[in-house]
Amino acid sequence: MTTSPSKQNAPTITIARGDGIGPEIMEAVLSILAAAKADFTTDEVQIGEAVFKAGYSSGISPEAWDSIRKNKIMLKSPITTPLGGGYKSLNVTLRKTLGLYANLRPCQAFHPFVPSGHPGIDVLIVRENEEDTYAGIEHRQTQEVTQCLKLISRPGCEKIIRFAFETARRYQRNKVTCMTKNNIMKITDGLFFNVFEEIAREYPEFETQHQIIDIGSARMATRPEYYDVVVTPNLYGDILSDIAAEVAGSVGLAGSVNMGTEFAMFEAIHGSAPDIAGQNIANPSALLRAAVMMLTHLGQTEAANRIENAWLSTLEARIHTADMISPSTRQKVGTKEFAAAVIERLGEKPKTLPVANFTAAQAKDQQSSAPSGKPIQKSTKELKGVDVFIDWSEGKRDPEVLGRDLEKASIKPFTLKMVTNRGVKVYPGGMPETFCTDHWRCRFVLANKGNPKPEDLLTLQNALLQQGFDIVKTENLYNFDGQPGYSLGQGE
Ligand code: NAD
Repeated sequence: MTTSPSKQNAPTITIARGDGIGPEIMEAVLSILAAAKADFTTDEVQIGEAVFKAGYSSGISPEAWDSIRKNKIMLKSPITTPLGGGYKSLNVTLRKTLGLYANLRPCQAFHPFVPSGHPGIDVLIVRENEEDTYAGIEHRQTQEVTQCLKLISRPGCEKIIRFAFETARRYQRNKVTCMTKNNIMKITDGLFFNVFEEIAREYPEFETQHQIIDIGSARMATRPEYYDVVVTPNLYGDILSDIAAEVAGSVGLAGSVNMGTEFAMFEAIHGSAPDIAGQNIANPSALLRAAVMMLTHLGQTEAANRIENAWLSTLEARIHTADMISPSTRQKVGTKEFAAAVIERLGEKPKTLPVANFTAAQAKDQQSSAPSGKPIQKSTKELKGVDVFIDWSEGKRDPEVLGRDLEKASIKPFTLKMVTNRGVKVYPGGMPETFCTDHWRCRFVLANKGNPKPEDLLTLQNALLQQGFDIVKTENLYNFDGQPGYSLGQGE
């Protein structure tokens, strides 16, 4: 499909209509882009539910990959990830495979035209997009216990935090807030926080602050005007941006970009809304605003401004889809009619809401803020011991019994330092009240000073296996520059 290729070399965009309300909102958006004479051709691919069911476990076919690789820019409707059946989230696959490390989600109010309890909200949420629990590495290890790995890397933190500051610069913002849970996850979230502090020094023009994610989310819900740019790891960012979008008015209004150094994918922040699919009632605004971000990214700022201003004028006319309805609504419309109302207003500017003014400076967009590529300073890494996780549920699951048996099975040069259950120390000297599952972390360190050899760890594991222990995983314990690279047990 071609919108209006005025030039021979108009870019080609990969389009995916998605599932649920996806096809309806994409149709509405493409009609507005065509009417605004946005200059690109499209290459349509099928992704999502049907592709999952055709046997592609990540919901995307090789042909779709080829299109995305070639075009490098994608406008995507939401898709449905079928539950169960080993299907992987397509969104996560796309973000990670294409290196889309940053997810920028602007959330702002359009009060009083879309009522918001917080008319002053205008926040840019920058969510890390590739790491954290979204690595999707999960295991069931025992009858009772499952785990999900939370991976946070230094390069990952550097990229996203630098991206956040560059975004703040491009959009002329004043304050950057980092949110983590570094009081509990001192190593993973601690790294994110430390990198934030380091990189903040390179951007002295900004006011910076750090908040724990729980109070940060609560404040986002009650005092969102307080925030300007927020940068946060993946899971927190996912939740926080939905809170911010809903506080601003509706999740149906917020678009987003997933940005990498080579690829960019533009989408609504909401899902495929199967509950309202096929009824011509979905709000196409979020996908439209993602498309406006895409046009800005392509340097087509004139078309971007025309569309955004027409959209703002439509809101000012109080023409609303069902999700925006309020006592002040003048006309309740369906998806198609809303798109027609926007098209009718192309060329108009809003009278009360701020006139859109996407600039060429923003056009170069986030791809310029790739990581600096500074080499990471290597620390001295020393092996200090091993955490052996075992599946054990004998008798009354008495940690004293387990601890003593482990001590008997342990071999030189190791000694059993402690046993924890779900992170709480239960041996030696646990509390009888602590509830114990069948999943035990048994920490072995050297009896004397020095470092074990990697093969010593295998000898230890062998000795434990010989005594009938069911090892479900091990984690080596390392010191980095003399500092433990592992957490202590609760109560250790
Ligand atoms: P959802 O965002 O689809 O829906 C949540 C609520 O918001 C529903 O009541 C829905 O009707 C409403 N809503 C969402 N978008 C709307 C719009 N444009 N206009 C009016 N109302 C709208 O979230 P969900 O129900 O948790 O998820 C449904 C499916 O979407 C799931 O399969 C999920 O995996 C998928 N999902 C996809 C994406 C994506 O593709 N980027 C993101 C989130 C969820």
